[in-house]
Amino acid sequence: ALSDRLGNTFDRLRGRGALREQDVRDAMREVRIALLEADVALPVARDFIEKVTEKAVGESVLKSVTPGQQVVKIVNDELVAMLGGSEGEDGHVPLTLEAKPPVVIMMVGLQGSGKTTSTAKLGKLIREKHGKKAMMASLDVNRPAAQEQLAVLGEQAQVDTLPIVEGQQPVEIAKRALESAKLRNVDVVLLDTAGRLHVDEALMAEMKAVASVATPTEVLLVVDSLTGQDAVNVAQSFSDEVPLTGVILTRMDGDARGGAALSMRAVTGKPIKFAGVGEKLDALEAFHPRRVAERILGMGDVVSLVEKAAETIKVEEAELLAKRMAKGQFDLNDLRMQLKQMQSMGGLGMLAGMMPGMKKAKAAMQASGMDDKVLVHMDAIMGSMTPKERANPALLNAKRKKRVAAGSGTQVQDVNKVLKMHQEMSRAMKQIKKMGGMKGLAAMLG
Ligand code: GDP
Ligand code: MG
Repeated sequence: ALSDRLGNTFDRLRGRGALREQDVRDAMREVRIALLEADVALPVARDFIEKVTEKAVGESVLKSVTPGQQVVKIVNDELVAMLGGSEGEDGHVPLTLEAKPPVVIMMVGLQGSGKTTSTAKLGKLIREKHGKKAMMASLDVNRPAAQEQLAVLGEQAQVDTLPIVEGQQPVEIAKRALESAKLRNVDVVLLDTAGRLHVDEALMAEMKAVASVATPTEVLLVVDSLTGQDAVNVAQSFSDEVPLTGVILTRMDGDARGGAALSMRAVTGKPIKFAGVGEKLDALEAFHPRRVAERILGMGDVVSLVEKAAETIKVEEAELLAKRMAKGQFDLNDLRMQLKQMQSMGGLGMLAGMMPGMKKAKAAMQASGMDDKVLVHMDAIMGSMTPKERANPALLNAKRKKRVAAGSGTQVQDVNKVLKMHQEMSRAMKQIKKMGGMKGLAAMLG
């Protein structure tokens, strides 16, 4: 699946401490293949990769502490934009219902795409969730029993349908629906139009004629997500001819590869507002670009971790520390800085839960009796030392240790624990240096 492929690519990126421009480009090649395999339209995929690459190979990303994660965040943000997200929390773009009643919603799309079903689903939603009076009318005079189908669904949805009058043409039915809605104080009129097996001129002419008499507030294109690349072509044709305001993707409960959803916004310029997820009348979900993007990347909490890290870690500090560690110089000033960074990122538990490779480090720390409370004590102890003492711990004789313990409200044995931990860590650093520097460390942790 798309999300599996991308997930693997991003796990690899995230796990990296340093990234070269070439690493990003390699990863983007994989993303591009994944998108194309998921049926994303070629120009859409190309455009996406271009945008992401341009942002991701910038100095500020590559030279940051967590370049892999930042790249993943850029991809995520771009995915949300590609899915047509709004500024809102989940990026969902709601129906526009606050116009002068009767508000008209016109449903368009190919035959079999799920227009009639989606019309009834929306009618039910408008009645139940928005508390408004809805009415539905079928303008499908091509298919036998199409109007009866809507009447049956209307009964299930407890939404009125316009009485059927034999022999009327779509434009006449639309006019009659509006008149009836005004008389009966209906808030929202849903017009279910006819479809064809293929896009043709007669169909488009009919849609335009209906739109001009009904002046719809919403024109929703209903597309079957299972038709993949075809869905994209259909969307293109409709959006060239009628003023769409949004898209409903049906059969998202099937094994659609996701590409249709990703291409829709780019091709129509309009957001996906709902997803059909079954045949039943309540199988309609508000479409949330942010959640979908996250599901695609399979990234869970990583986005928020990246945001936290960007806020709290001072890049220069971390780079300096890395350099000193690589040289085997690691004093108590460095240890203190490192512990501060851990704390500001939410403590040990949170780090370990989120970052690949941190699980082992956490286990090691816990084994040495360290928890978040200990972190606070350790910081107080090192804070009671002078900068000189931190740079050269050997200065800390018995008398000085007593002073530090009193200053930090701890015992001399606690001060000794910090010193011991530092000794062990610097010994480990020296070993790492012998093993080949930070690469060796990454291998050990990972
Ligand atoms: P129309 O020709 O565009 O009006 O399509 P219909 O609304 O008649 O739907 C055609 C078929 O697709 C019907 O059997 C529906 O029950 C089914 N259908 C519509 N939407 C969905 C959906 O989201 N999921 C599934 N599984 N089936 C759907
Ligand atoms: Mg129909």
